[in-house]
Amino acid sequence: MCRHLGWLGADVTVSSLMLDPPFGLRVQSYAPRRQKHGLMNADGWGVGFFDRTSGGEVPRRWRSAAPLWGDASFDSVAPALRSHCIVAAVRSATVGMPIEASAAAPFTDGRWLLSHNGVVGRAVLAPTSSAESVCDSAILAATIFDRGLDALGDTIAEVGMADPLARLNILAADGSRLLGTAWGDTLCILRRDDGVVLASEPYDDSPDWDDVPDRHLVEVTPHGVTITPLTHPKGSR
Ligand code: GLN
Repeated sequence: MCRHLGWLGADVTVSSLMLDPPFGLRVQSYAPRRQKHGLMNADGWGVGFFDRTSGGEVPRRWRSAAPLWGDASFDSVAPALRSHCIVAAVRSATVGMPIEASAAAPFTDGRWLLSHNGVVGRAVLAPTSSAESVCDSAILAATIFDRGLDALGDTIAEVGMADPLARLNILAADGSRLLGTAWGDTLCILRRDDGVVLASEPYDDSPDWDDVPDRHLVEVTPHGVTITPLTHPKGSR
């Protein structure tokens, strides 16, 4: 399982979320505290953020197949990257999946940035030509993009029914919305004065972190946070 983090709020630096906190993604890359599957996240990492300086909401990414903890160049640049909407992840590859930058989250369709923390049988996903990698997470991302993010909850519930062993924690953002699902692994929320963090696990020991219950969808907008149960579209669970 990987660890991931999403932000929607005021402009903040990428380093303030990923590198500076005492238990941020950099520390989670070698010493996660709440990871149930896998010991560390050494198989790559990625960060995507929305850039308003070019007009509109332009998603920009930086991904790597190497461990985050050793990336001195990113350490130098991250304090200069500022955004109101960020999705970042460190990766522990599922057995059999390729270790390559294109298999690291966040994935994009040009509008959304999306990270998957978990595992899914590729056989239950429809073949797609738009996936960035043969990695299960890349194919799941392409499936979610094809179905549209408004159907994220339905898509996750359906894939979860088709593969009962799947773990389907998603983070996705488009610059004005941040969506998260908890399906089989931990998801936490931190409501700050300047914005909202969704993360696999707390990046510090603040008492303000709350756990999102399993099989729930979180939607963060500038107007607030809603958390709703994920049920099968036909009503069965
Ligand atoms: N299954 C995905 C991969 O191989 C995600 C793994 C994870 O969440 N650790 O990259």
